[in-house]
Amino acid sequence: VAKERGRQRIVLFDPSIDARQQQRLNYEMGLREALNKDELFVRYQPRFEISGRRIVGAEALVRWESQEHGLVPPDIFIPIAEGTRLIVDIGRFVLEQACHEAVRWAEQGEAVPVSVNLSPKQLREDGLWSDIQRILRESGLAPNMLELELTESMLVDNIDLVLPLLQRIRALGVNIAIDDFGTGYSSLAYLKQLPIDTVKVDRSFINDVPGSPEDETLLQAIVSMARSLNYRVVAEGVESEQQRAFLETLGCDELQGFLLGRPEPGNMLISQVIRAREGTPEGDRGAGRLG
Ligand code: C2E
Ligand code: MG
Ligand code: MG
Ligand code: MG
Repeated sequence: VAKERGRQRIVLFDPSIDARQQQRLNYEMGLREALNKDELFVRYQPRFEISGRRIVGAEALVRWESQEHGLVPPDIFIPIAEGTRLIVDIGRFVLEQACHEAVRWAEQGEAVPVSVNLSPKQLREDGLWSDIQRILRESGLAPNMLELELTESMLVDNIDLVLPLLQRIRALGVNIAIDDFGTGYSSLAYLKQLPIDTVKVDRSFINDVPGSPEDETLLQAIVSMARSLNYRVVAEGVESEQQRAFLETLGCDELQGFLLGRPEPGNMLISQVIRAREGTPEGDRGAGRLG
């Protein structure tokens, strides 16, 4: 233990390590305490039918409000957690929160499926399948109301290990989505052998459409191929009505993005569902953009 501590001290105060590494270590130490200190919580971003008139799902997105560092974005702390075993505990926490939240929505008469991001390390842990099973049982969530989001690289890197696991998860009735699609190097034809329901097209393909002919062509190719393989196609990061309308003409099924909804506390989702259903989406969108 003394040796361990000694080593740690050398790492932490070594003047030769640069500021970024130091920051990373500080975050990592903070993250080790974050769960115990209740600094982690989950936000839910609605996913809409492409018309924008109906909420058809919600993605659970973890947040870290650190006493010491303030609100740290997941793009910063998730990779750090992934470098340690912390991601497994954080991932389990998010899954638990999300399943219980989705049950509360259903109890209020608005059953909305919830999507949860998985990291590669969780897939490699033995306990994942039994965690999912246990959490579904304890929360009482219907398995088909849960979707797990995985990235392409997770699927391609260890297909021999991942395929049987995904099949077992899917046998429970849980849905599987590919997240950030298009940023990896996999082809849809290759992914076809995996039990996948949904393809979420990465925001980078949406950013510059309509307007950039190259990106329009790429996006059209991705959407039409995904559709022809019978995936549900979801566009990520839709910020404008022009983007939404363009995606609709391409035949995209669903969208997620700041145009229609930001990540919010779970208890806000029901009112968003009702607003989408009863509101006049065009009017709401217009008003939102102006003010
Ligand atoms: P992701 O899974 O692709 O999640 C979508 C991200 O895009 C979210 O960022 C969301 O807030 C953001 N987003 C949604 N609509 C828009 C838009 O219209 N414009 C822009 N600019 N951004 C939009 P967030 O919450 O910061 O999460 C970033 C990433 O962190 C996630 O990307 C995911 O990879 C990871 N992450 C978040 N929560 C978890 C988690 O519980 N577990 C794991 N393993 N990763 C997570
Ligand atoms: Mg995601
Ligand atoms: Mg994504
Ligand atoms: Mg992403």
